[in-house]
Amino acid sequence: MSRGILFVMSGPSGTGKGTICERLLENKENDIFLSVSSTTREIRKNEIDGVTYNYTTEDNFKRMIENGEMLEYAVYSGNYYGTPKKTVEDMLEKGKNVLLEIEPQGALKVKERMPDAELMFIVPPSMRELKKRLEERGRESAEQIAERLEAAKWEFTQSPKYNSVFVNDDLDACVREVEQAMRDKARSRALVEKLLTEEY
Ligand code: 5GP
Repeated sequence: MSRGILFVMSGPSGTGKGTICERLLENKENDIFLSVSSTTREIRKNEIDGVTYNYTTEDNFKRMIENGEMLEYAVYSGNYYGTPKKTVEDMLEKGKNVLLEIEPQGALKVKERMPDAELMFIVPPSMRELKKRLEERGRESAEQIAERLEAAKWEFTQSPKYNSVFVNDDLDACVREVEQAMRDKARSRALVEKLLTEEY
């Protein structure tokens, strides 16, 4: 059985990567497994422990880092977030395609550790639109929004390190483009594996 593909969805805060991932999971044809991250942040209303995240203490999170249990982790807005190495490895070994939805520092760490991961970067159509989306979400103060917009500018400079960049202007169109890119990747991977077994 061939190994699954690791897809990493990333991009600045407010670009809609979470919504895009939800849509990718809703479409059963995508046949993809979402990795559940661990975090030290407080659980929010409508979130489920073990489904949205595995919520844990800072001490426990640091112990997991020391034990080498994280494929990557980052500190974001004062909280730790990380991807469990074993679950991701096990699913890939079983031939399952795995999706991570993580912020850009973590995405680039994954690329260092697993160079064959497919990194997808989501950008907004404009800075003004990004600001509007962050404001409408209503989760951050004006000061935090300004910090996120500054962080986004630096993150945009990192986009050449990703395999592909998608503009989330029209959500439906963006999801279709991402799905097409995932299918293309799976198809080219399968073709290469076939070519490697062929006599000439
Ligand atoms: P939130 O607190 O809004 O759920 O997530 C904050 C940010 O952390 C989002 O950009 C999300 O993509 C990112 N994030 C979630 N899980 C992980 C993870 O395991 N690793 C990293 N590096 N970022 C994560």
